[in-house]
Amino acid sequence: MSRFDAVWLDAGGVLVLPDPTVLGPLLAYYGAAAGIERHRRAHYAAMAAKSAQGAEERDWRQYDEAYVRSLDVSEELVDEASRALGRVRIADLWRWPIPESVDALRALGSGGVPLAVVSNASGQVERSLLLSRVCQVGPGPGTPVRCVIDSHVVGVAKPDPAIFDFAAAHFVGVDRRRIAYVGDSVMMDVGGAVAADLHPILIDPYDDHADATFERIHSLADLLA
Ligand SMILES: [Mg+2]
Repeated sequence: MSRFDAVWLDAGGVLVLPDPTVLGPLLAYYGAAAGIERHRRAHYAAMAAKSAQGAEERDWRQYDEAYVRSLDVSEELVDEASRALGRVRIADLWRWPIPESVDALRALGSGGVPLAVVSNASGQVERSLLLSRVCQVGPGPGTPVRCVIDSHVVGVAKPDPAIFDFAAAHFVGVDRRRIAYVGDSVMMDVGGAVAADLHPILIDPYDDHADATFERIHSLADLLA
């Protein structure tokens, strides 16, 4: 079912995206393309820009500017559109389930692969993933996972490898090098996973990181092969 003894996942960009059904109308005012596919693409373009800048988790300015540029907002409106995006893209908006990810997560879970979520979040991520029917600890509407670790709750954030210790407590006896950690941030996720001795995998649907030396996948479904 999997090359790995367990799969741990980032939430934003892997399981859910900032809700394009909210951001579409918000940014269309500034001339942005409003289609869901365009917004999906914009997220990964924006993450790549954020990574290229070496931006820290709290600094989303490059992300917001690259996001609206990816949607063809004209240069004279990039400041205003990206500022609006930065104010509206609150933690609770990371709630739009990525359809292929939800399907792949369900297949991994039903195939017996032990799963966990480790997210830099604001205390909301476990509830959001439940409400979005993506996953939950124990039985429920989504895929059962062993734990959902929220940086705000545990008090340590990626790329600090210490955040992964909270998940590891649910995986006693599993060799960390046989645990994949899938994320969409080079600095936070790949960097954090390397520091934690996990096997890092970047989700890179549009080949924004074609020159990377670490493993990349286009979709979570690639883990099922
Ligand atoms: Mg992410």
